[in-house]
Amino acid sequence: MFEVVAESGEARRGELQLNHGKVETPVFMPCGTYGSVKALTPVQIREVGTQVLLGNTFHLMLRPGPDVISDLGGLHGFMDWDGPILTDSGGYQVFSLRDNVALDDKGVTFRSPVNGDRVRLSPEISMHMQKVLKSDIVMVFDECTPYPATHHEAKSSMLRSVGWAATSKSAYDGEGALFGIVQGSVYDDLRVESLAAVVDIGFDGFAIGGLSVGEDIEEMNAVLSALVPQMPSDHPRYLMGVGTPSDLIRGVVQGIDMFDCVMPTRNARNGHLFTWEGVVRIRNAVHKHDSSPIDPNCGCYTCQHFSRAYLHHLDRCREMLACTLMSIHNLHFYHELMTALRKRISENTLSDFASRLLAQFADANRVNSSA
Ligand SMILES: [Zn+2]
Repeated sequence: MFEVVAESGEARRGELQLNHGKVETPVFMPCGTYGSVKALTPVQIREVGTQVLLGNTFHLMLRPGPDVISDLGGLHGFMDWDGPILTDSGGYQVFSLRDNVALDDKGVTFRSPVNGDRVRLSPEISMHMQKVLKSDIVMVFDECTPYPATHHEAKSSMLRSVGWAATSKSAYDGEGALFGIVQGSVYDDLRVESLAAVVDIGFDGFAIGGLSVGEDIEEMNAVLSALVPQMPSDHPRYLMGVGTPSDLIRGVVQGIDMFDCVMPTRNARNGHLFTWEGVVRIRNAVHKHDSSPIDPNCGCYTCQHFSRAYLHHLDRCREMLACTLMSIHNLHFYHELMTALRKRISENTLSDFASRLLAQFADANRVNSSA
């Protein structure tokens, strides 16, 4: 299912064979929260370079619910996306409700944020829902440990997640690949213990959860440095919910294969655009008369056809097209970044390239934030 085809330092280039096609890694997965990548059609999602999408079990379970999606043949047919789909387990979203969640050893009960109904979510229910969605990659149900957590809190949360990982594996009888999730907050010993336990249960891939939840960059990097070298080298490694372009570069250098984040699409809708020269904030008045594209070196549809002045105008007028055009650019940039990293891994020149890019982004962001 997963084959490493090139390595550069700790970084790997690989191929992931899924039910709906092959994915080249390292890969970035856009978020299709409600069965839609906000503001984009499936054709646009494909054209920006997307290989695999992320869907949210929690949101789709509440609306439209499993019956509707089952009747319409799964999430692929429902949203007309014929490429691979990874679905999260719902754990992250349910625990972000915090105040309205009653936790027990077998799962959680919560008030639906949609209509106030009491809803139950457990490893078994999450596995059933992801089977109905016909996900190519199914994530085990876990507890996303809050940050900050004491060692004691992080340990009991991690052990609960390990138990739920085993239950998820026994319960899942669909055709997708099943990934385990490593928890343990910022504590190296807990991360290593969690990894050993999920590897022991046995999964098709291994994800790192509970990062990018409020800890600083140094803490995240420390966890990755302690953990990633110990992860099985012949299975895909997925860093959940991360991150900025610089986070992706650092993750790839450390040996991560898969990433997802709402950042490129959410930031696009707020006029925050990523480029090789750093961030462009299209709302700034400086763009009002600017005839140049967001990035002269970008091959995306938006940069090929539209000026900064036009995007600035659309954004000011709150035209929906602004969200579409800017989401196209940001996702294209994220995918181009991953393509460049894959190429450098094949050439075994990743280290210099990554250092140069990280310095470039840091410099550009310093200039932008002082301007
Ligand atoms: Zn562009």
